[in-house]
Amino acid sequence: MREMILIRYGEIGLKGKNIRIFEKKLASNIRKAIYHIANTEILDHHGRVYVVFDAEDQTKVIEAVKKVFGVVSISPAMKTERDIENLKEKCLEIAKAVIAKTGAKTFKIETKRADKNYPLRTPEINQTLGAHVLRNIETLKVDVHNPDLLITVEIREKAYIYSERIPCLGGMPYGTAGKGMLLLSGGIDSPVAGYLMAKRGLELEAVHFHSYPFTSERALEKVVDLAANLTQYTMTLKIHSVNLLEIQKAINEKCPTDESTILARSFMMKIAEKLAIESNCKALITGENLGQVASQTIEGMTVTNSMVQMPVFRPLVAYDKVDIITIAKNIDTFETSILPYEDCCTVFLPAKVVTKPRLDKIMDSMSLLEMDALVDEAIAQKEIIVIVNGKVRDMNHYAH
Ligand code: ATP
Ligand code: MG
Repeated sequence: MREMILIRYGEIGLKGKNIRIFEKKLASNIRKAIYHIANTEILDHHGRVYVVFDAEDQTKVIEAVKKVFGVVSISPAMKTERDIENLKEKCLEIAKAVIAKTGAKTFKIETKRADKNYPLRTPEINQTLGAHVLRNIETLKVDVHNPDLLITVEIREKAYIYSERIPCLGGMPYGTAGKGMLLLSGGIDSPVAGYLMAKRGLELEAVHFHSYPFTSERALEKVVDLAANLTQYTMTLKIHSVNLLEIQKAINEKCPTDESTILARSFMMKIAEKLAIESNCKALITGENLGQVASQTIEGMTVTNSMVQMPVFRPLVAYDKVDIITIAKNIDTFETSILPYEDCCTVFLPAKVVTKPRLDKIMDSMSLLEMDALVDEAIAQKEIIVIVNGKVRDMNHYAH
């Protein structure tokens, strides 16, 4: 047997002339999300997307579509003929099925008459269908304000009837807002930052900095696992893996020790921006959060900002840690993020860290270093890992 779900989207309806581009992208993202499920079909009518599938795949299809950004809610729906006698029977059928499951005591029928040529008007349809259900189920009463059971009948080229609404993630279709380069560490915050920007439609690429052999292979595998989790939403993700060790050594040799963290972060920004330009990314994304740690002050962000021309998106800047953790748990990155592998920032962590760096002093320290050469050398040594649907597809890493 074939079943269908009806997919609602929100904000993209506001995009005026661009609406078709957004709708097409949404439909194509849904297609990719359910690609692994056989015999599915996507129908893309004005203002609605429907997916038709084999009945036994319903849970799989719903789970997959729930992770597509831009989808606001979905309803398992019945597609049927529009004549009123048929609609009466179908509404009764649905009411009986839901009452058996939930014990609903009150109901309401709501008709949406998208095809204005339909011979009956909305109130008449509501009354006829409602009366039929009432006559046949004695325990049921009408409640127009707060019904236990709301049956919606949409009259289009066919009739679509549904009662359940499953809330989804919302946001904008992935890939409709250009591309950004995510600075992905092994921590809790940066995967969440990437997720939030992707949810606004920004396509992601990622850069990770390590200090191999001071940081281990396991530390890198952890980042690969985090990126794999993000592909639940993005399908694919490319990671540029960059060794920062030579830069950290140079900083340690030539610059004041209390500046080493902010200087390393400055290099990360510069390298990330260069990679971003090569990959056609138009923004950088970090998991920075105001006041969370010593380096995440306004002064610290002033320094990292001034290393680059591109806008730096910091979607978590105003979040409380508990709220970041809630999202990390929802997107399945939390358990991986808390694994205790060392991070490149901790490798040369000085005893004292400057919390309010002054830009002019940091610039002076930068000028003690062969900045461009160090950046170019680090980029020349970079390695690339491509993850598709949770699995590593291409990897020239681990080749040390
Ligand atoms: P996270 O949980 O994302 O690691 P954090 O609270 O540990 O964040 P920092 O270590 O100060 O904060 O890093 C701030 C941001 O800088 C990170 O969110 C990330 O975007 C970027 N960053 C830090 N270390 C790395 C790294 N090794 N590779 C790539 N980006 C990094
Ligand atoms: Mg960190």
